[in-house]
Amino acid sequence: MELTYIKDLPKHEGGKVTLHGWIANKRSSGKVAFLVLRDGSGFVQCVVEVTTAGEENLERAKRLTLESAISITGTVRKDDNQEGGYELQATDVHIYSIADENYPIGKKEHGVDFLMNNRHLWLRSKRQWAIMKIRNCALYAIHRFFQERDFVQMDSPILTGNACEGTTTLFDTQFYKEDQVAYLSQSGQLYAEATAMAMGKVYTFGPTFRAEKSLTPRHLSEFWMIEPEMAFYDLEMDMNLIEDFVRYVVSEVYEKCRTELETLERNLTLFEAIKQPFPRITYDDAVLIIKGKKEVNGKNAIVQLEADLAAVHATIAEKNAALAEYEEKLQAKGLKKGEINHFQNKVDTLKNELKKLEDDARNIPQWIASASNFVPGDDFGASDEKAITRLFDVPVFVYKWPSPIKAFYMKRYEDDDNYVKGVDLLAPEGFGEIVGGSQREDDIEKLLERIKEHDLPLEAFEWYLDLRRFGSVPHAGFGLGFERLVMWMTGVSHIRETIPFPRYYGRLFP
Ligand code: ATP
Ligand code: MN
Repeated sequence: MELTYIKDLPKHEGGKVTLHGWIANKRSSGKVAFLVLRDGSGFVQCVVEVTTAGEENLERAKRLTLESAISITGTVRKDDNQEGGYELQATDVHIYSIADENYPIGKKEHGVDFLMNNRHLWLRSKRQWAIMKIRNCALYAIHRFFQERDFVQMDSPILTGNACEGTTTLFDTQFYKEDQVAYLSQSGQLYAEATAMAMGKVYTFGPTFRAEKSLTPRHLSEFWMIEPEMAFYDLEMDMNLIEDFVRYVVSEVYEKCRTELETLERNLTLFEAIKQPFPRITYDDAVLIIKGKKEVNGKNAIVQLEADLAAVHATIAEKNAALAEYEEKLQAKGLKKGEINHFQNKVDTLKNELKKLEDDARNIPQWIASASNFVPGDDFGASDEKAITRLFDVPVFVYKWPSPIKAFYMKRYEDDDNYVKGVDLLAPEGFGEIVGGSQREDDIEKLLERIKEHDLPLEAFEWYLDLRRFGSVPHAGFGLGFERLVMWMTGVSHIRETIPFPRYYGRLFP
């Protein structure tokens, strides 16, 4: 048997199909039941009327609880008022299983902990479904981008003896010899450098682990990273590739996931602007911009943040007024159950929105203070990235970083030892870093110096030094955090919603 999926209904307009799926919503009255069916490919309303489906099918439809599994046969009708533009006029309802009455996830507002504890069910909700569809679309686009450009996918090991980015965020396990610690990989880069010398242009796409105990909205302890590495590339070629790559993936998502972006109410400015060139600014200029000492297209970072703060205060006032209104409505006598639910939902939603806005009202003044007081030479914090990217509609490159704050393997400028050929790509609208890349040090003497300076165990890097002993060439690469990218494109406020089963400090279940 071939299954028919909701997404293919347009091909069957006027015809008869059987769909298989779960009940996402239901209402019924008298001689008709309206079922919203979901099958993983989409959502569609099915109308079960006594005149077309008969008493027995209508009775079955009325017994259905949320998340019950059915198959349903009927005629596909075009209906522009319906989501997706189609509706099913049912003639037959078959039940696979009736779900327990008390499906935990309803339409009302739930707390984050509750939702995370029910992640295995939460994934069925429409917003989560939309995020996962976008994640999948991006994943496929990423492979297509590299494969079409003759990159070879080479997996890096997950268990390693090397600490690539410094040892503070390493997960370790004592499994091998007693005196040998195995680490979970923080980055596949060093191995990608080795495979690039074998294959020319490579990319890894694998899980990486960082034992970060600080809970931020954009850090996971387990995330997926895309790390291309190219022989004979310099920093500029690296930036060109990053730009083509990010533009390609964003454009693909825009083209293929319009419905999903609508479901998420994602503002589309970014997707419309993505064709424009990504500005490239040096770290030193970025510092001036952050401190409000240099303008971008007539916009000043500090002034912009102050305007954002004023806007937040205005929205808080509006929402508070709306909240008071609904709370008053709830006090009225003789309300129907439906009305009470409706008003209570509004109140809960407004309270949630206000909580976020009040966080902003508290945070933005701190961001302004830390941006104005930024000390040149320091690494950017989340708020510094926000200050700068708030001024752009497209991602912006920051390159030529101070050597002391970057990794040992980055190549220094020939004419200035104080700076490395490193680059970060910061996503616009206040989002911040999504890519970190660099040209790598290809001179063995200099690399040895760096390893000493950074106090790294030389023995563990002997194999890596071989890459400079045998046919060393200029080469460059970058790392893009997959969930960061999905978070940015979907516009969700927390990275935990961008991966099916997120892992962050304190979260190992489900
Ligand atoms: P950040 O400064 O944002 O913590 P980083 O500089 O430590 O990131 P890199 O080592 O440059 O990160 O890693 C490359 C990319 O991996 C980052 O640009 C980001 O997209 C992603 N990334 C880094 N750490 C995490 C994390 N804990 N969770 C999810 N993605 C991450
Ligand atoms: Mn980085």
